Amino acid sequence: MSAYAAGRPGGRRRLVSGNWKMNHTHYEAIQMVHQLAARLRAAPLPDVTDVSLHPAFTALRSVQTALESDGVPVALGAQDCHFEERGAFTGEVSAEMLAKLNVSYVIVGHSERRRYAGETDEIVRRKLDAVLSQAMTPILCVGETSSEREDGLASATVASQLDAVLSGRSPEVIAGVVVAYEPIWAIGTGRSASPDDAQEMAAHIRGELVRLGGGAADSVRIQYGGSVTDRTAAELHDCPDVDGLLVGGASLEAAAFEGIIRAGS
Ligand code: PEP
Repeated sequence: MSAYAAGRPGGRRRLVSGNWKMNHTHYEAIQMVHQLAARLRAAPLPDVTDVSLHPAFTALRSVQTALESDGVPVALGAQDCHFEERGAFTGEVSAEMLAKLNVSYVIVGHSERRRYAGETDEIVRRKLDAVLSQAMTPILCVGETSSEREDGLASATVASQLDAVLSGRSPEVIAGVVVAYEPIWAIGTGRSASPDDAQEMAAHIRGELVRLGGGAADSVRIQYGGSVTDRTAAELHDCPDVDGLLVGGASLEAAAFEGIIRAGS
């Protein structure tokens, strides 16, 4: 599927991604895919919208086969991967293992991984390398804490996260990355960024991408994530620099996730 579409700024297609985090056993995940597929089949998807689902590792194979048998245009995503190719890393999953399951998108640098698993920018950079080496698309998460925002440091924090992971890369590589702006204070709190704040930061991110990758910046898809619901999605979809949404809690339930996807029509 092309990542470009007429009718949106820069011809960019939207990407709406459901990050299930540590929810849904493989059995529940199959039920969820069938429910979502029935809804998505009932009417065509908005023609500039791509969708990805990011189940836990234990449900990847089940979701892959369910998506294929249901025949819905939803891509398989993962929530993380290790940066090494293989070896003595108990409990970890490599990028190659994901690619062999037809995973298309891999989230790297989610704030919950940075916080609970101690992931540094350097680790995130290496994970992004691993994802690219297997021809998958990384979804690179960046975002500030509430105190950084209160101290006027939100833009600088995000710029430094982008710089740490994307500096020195070719414009072609940068063009193929998805960036998710996820203010940490908005994740799972019920307190979403306003559409104006989301647009302002997405435009800032695109400006930083111009610095890092020149003309490639216009092709990069920038998602917003943080307490998106089917009630708030339409206004966020309307922001010219917001090219889709990364959705946690509201992606666990088929009707709500469908509403978020279709709000972009
Ligand atoms: C997320 O985990 O990326 C996220 C945005 O979660 P939520 O939608 O639940 O805030």
